[in-house]
Amino acid sequence: MKFQEVKTIQKRLEIMEELSRKFLTRAAGKHEEGQFPYENIKDLKEAGYTSLTIPKRNGGEGLSLYEFIRLQEKMAEGDGSTALSIGWHMGIMKSLGEKNSWKESIYKNLCEKVKNGALMNNCATEPQTGSPTRGGKPVTSAVRDGHNWVLNGRKTFTTMAPVLDYFNVSATIADNGQIGNFLIPRTAEGVEIEETWDSIAMRGTGSHDLILKNARVKEEALVEIFEPGQKGAAGWLLHIPACYLGIAQAAQTYAIDFAKKYSPNSINGAIIDLPNVQQKIGEMELELMRARHFLYSVAKQWDEADELARSIMQPELGAVKFAVTNAAISVVDLAMRVVGARSLSEKNPLQRYYRDVRAGLHNPPMDDMTIQVLAKHAIE
Ligand SMILES: Cc1cc2nc3c(=O)[nH]c(=O)nc-3n(C[C@H](O)[C@H](O)[C@H](O)COP(=O)(O)OP(=O)(O)OC[C@H]3O[C@@H](n4cnc5c(N)ncnc54)[C@H](O)[C@@H]3O)c2cc1C
Repeated sequence: MKFQEVKTIQKRLEIMEELSRKFLTRAAGKHEEGQFPYENIKDLKEAGYTSLTIPKRNGGEGLSLYEFIRLQEKMAEGDGSTALSIGWHMGIMKSLGEKNSWKESIYKNLCEKVKNGALMNNCATEPQTGSPTRGGKPVTSAVRDGHNWVLNGRKTFTTMAPVLDYFNVSATIADNGQIGNFLIPRTAEGVEIEETWDSIAMRGTGSHDLILKNARVKEEALVEIFEPGQKGAAGWLLHIPACYLGIAQAAQTYAIDFAKKYSPNSINGAIIDLPNVQQKIGEMELELMRARHFLYSVAKQWDEADELARSIMQPELGAVKFAVTNAAISVVDLAMRVVGARSLSEKNPLQRYYRDVRAGLHNPPMDDMTIQVLAKHAIE
């Protein structure tokens, strides 16, 4: 069934639940070896998921932020890598539709492509800049040549590189030093992917390097000019905490299931009845409940806010990412303590969750930056 055929979040969650279960069965196999989850992305496209965040005026479903993060969280219960990967595409399409920062005809054209299955992502990180949120200037350069742009550079962490149709690449414009985003089709001359992704966390995201060697694109590929590190409040980035919350939920579910079945001969019954195990399950539940309420409430606040109110939400958005991501790390840790040494087996999903939740610390905004924003907010 397609997501477009139902309208309520409950019904859409049911469709996602089914997909997520399928993703979970695949996660232990190929993705454990670092292979890209092609089948999952295909399933999401076939179910109509990848165009849901396009605004209604452009023929999408105009998914709210709350609905978007609920679906992303559910997907991540099955496979965190798939959720983080598609989350970038979905979130960027949503944000562009809300901000209207691109020429309408270019965004409209991209929406048409996305409705036919095209995928895009931002390619902002470089070896020299580190996290672009800290304001580093891209070393990737764009030089004007008549009615074309010629780009050269290397982008790291290009999530979903194996299947992206469009790369939204930040580059410094040689003439004037301004920073722009360039929408580069995969088919453009001079575009290459170097398969560098060897991370032990989020192995299935295919976050390889994008290499631009005299990549030639048309004039209109320059879609936006911006100040590095000054992108403002970005509600769509809540797909990040949603992803790690989903992974944490999967860890708790596994631990409870294990505890119900595991029955060492030192006790009668299973370890689920033991106070030391129940203590940890209760602590996990507290973390998950607190994280969920915080995440959902800020997402709803975003949905209800106008442009001005959204522009001052950076403290809340950063705080949610900080709180939820760190809670997710704690939940996975507790789940592993419930299961014991078996949680470290390569065959056990907990070791994957343990590796995957760590990646959340290195997705934006980083914890130290959030604490600074919160301090400034409190002082002001
Ligand atoms: C799974 C995953 C998927 C990703 N997907 C994408 C993607 O699709 N597109 C994309 O563009 N990026 C992506 N990224 C990259 C991500 O957004 C970060 O750019 C990347 O993780 C590097 O962050 P960092 O904090 O390790 O790097 P750095 O910024 O190099 O930081 C390393 C260390 O130096 C310190 N540091 C560096 N500079 C400063 C400074 N100015 N002030 C204070 N401290 C500093 C940091 O605190 C940290 O301790 C992804 C990352 C991961 C892990």
